[in-house]
Amino acid sequence: MSEIDKPSKAEDEYFARQELERRKKWAQEQATKMATEQKEQLKQLHWMKCPKCGMDLNEIEVHGVKVDQCASCGGVFLDAGEMEQIEKHEQGGVMGRVFSMFR
Ligand SMILES: [Zn+2]
Repeated sequence: MSEIDKPSKAEDEYFARQELERRKKWAQEQATKMATEQKEQLKQLHWMKCPKCGMDLNEIEVHGVKVDQCASCGGVFLDAGEMEQIEKHEQGGVMGRVFSMFR
């Protein structure tokens, strides 16, 4: 009897370990999925919202450069690459004109 019991017990442990590994992997996948979903939720929650006061941002074009301005506190925010765009035009005095508009 014991000769039959031993291998089946080892088999049980093997499958139990495999099951545990599967569940660990699943839990990790769930955590990654949740992190991605949370990131997406945060993005939706803050998209086009002022980082200072949380009000809506309005996209306005100033001398060919699109900037986001908060209607509430007047803050001006730039997307990636827009700073470079402004810097490129800075020699022509656009930078000064851009910011003089918001004063
Ligand atoms: Zn604001």
